[in-house]
Amino acid sequence: MTDSTREHYVSLDHQDPLRELRAHFALPDGVIYLDGNSLGARPRAAAARAAAVVQEEWGTGLIRSWNTAGWFELPRRLGNRLAPLIGAGTDEVVVTDTTSINLFKVLAAALRVQAARDPRRKVIVSEASNFPTDLYIAQGLADLLQQGYTVRLVDAPTEIDAAVREDTAVLMLTHVNYKTGEMLDMASYSELAHARGALAVWDLAHSAGAVPVALNAAGADYAVGCTYKYLNGGPGSPAFLWVAPALRDAFWQPLSGWWGHAAPFAMEPQYRPQNGIARYLCGTQPITSLAMVECGLDVFAHTDMQALRAKSLQLTDAFIALVEARCGHHPLALVTPREHARRGSQVSFTHPQGYAVMQALIERGVIGDYREPGIIRFGFTPLYTSFAEVWDAVEVLRDVLDSGSHEAARFQTRGAVT
Ligand SMILES: *Cc1c(COP(=O)(O)O)cnc(C)c1O
Repeated sequence: MTDSTREHYVSLDHQDPLRELRAHFALPDGVIYLDGNSLGARPRAAAARAAAVVQEEWGTGLIRSWNTAGWFELPRRLGNRLAPLIGAGTDEVVVTDTTSINLFKVLAAALRVQAARDPRRKVIVSEASNFPTDLYIAQGLADLLQQGYTVRLVDAPTEIDAAVREDTAVLMLTHVNYKTGEMLDMASYSELAHARGALAVWDLAHSAGAVPVALNAAGADYAVGCTYKYLNGGPGSPAFLWVAPALRDAFWQPLSGWWGHAAPFAMEPQYRPQNGIARYLCGTQPITSLAMVECGLDVFAHTDMQALRAKSLQLTDAFIALVEARCGHHPLALVTPREHARRGSQVSFTHPQGYAVMQALIERGVIGDYREPGIIRFGFTPLYTSFAEVWDAVEVLRDVLDSGSHEAARFQTRGAVT
């Protein structure tokens, strides 16, 4: 049996130690879902959990549920459950707010730490190809502070070294690039930042639940990330935030709402931050959505990030090899690094008609997504993606391209969300 037959991939599924985990997800028939990097699939348990939160905790428990159903504790309790997946310790993580908002909080805290150490450090260094919200938040914060803060963007990771200088306060990087799937070495870039007197802020949106992350061991200073991508927390589920223990109580973050107060129900007129990670909370959380995050985390309890990483690399290797072997006569160019150490859990190709190609794939049940410029993006979630699906997805791609079906007029118009 060679790897150019579907049977080969079916046999890989039979040998896959993670194959039972797919049963934890409700995936529709007729769909090959390769967009778990944008919105994770629904854990089966989420429907019953949502019903329980709405009917029992809210409906029957009413206001009492803040105490009796653990609502008030939820951001911290979920943070503790998530911590092992990202190499963080107990009481180091909270699940709250959005990634954009959490980035604002940690960047502001990092700039204040630096202002106390060396007020000449006014530059936030990042990559131009970083996810736009990260850049917008940094720009907005620099404008708000109005003390000469600026954002310096580099065009490639190879330029980071030269860009982090004596004027640099923060090196703000996304661990796995959302477009290319390129993964950066967290330990070496954190070390580079420290060697130049800067702090390292990491966005784990495409890493948490996708690749092993070791925040403490890698010497990171701050981190944020999404729970609705590889962690399967549901659309718009609250994000997470981590701060290195040594920096946690150095300053409080600027969104100094009552949930981060030392005594929220003392109703004091003056803000006093709590000690510990809870000072990074702001206000009342969307509890129904927050509760869903736990259903996603529950699935991770059946495995570990090393096993997930091994399967993820097998899936992405197989996809790259099959696309190149079976669709190689079409103008597709791989943008994701081939080197394992530099690859996250997604594969991206460019195609001159990338948008239309992706629309044609989606109509045939192969769901990935499209990002400018010309990039078709496929996310591989080892919790539920099978090897046979990799084969089948490439066959659909080959058929779309060979038949030219993506050239149909209906695939040329764009929706608000691509
Ligand atoms: C998905 C993603 C975000 C999303 O931020 P939200 O505030 O949840 O909209 C932010 N940063 C990166 C790097 C992402 O990939």
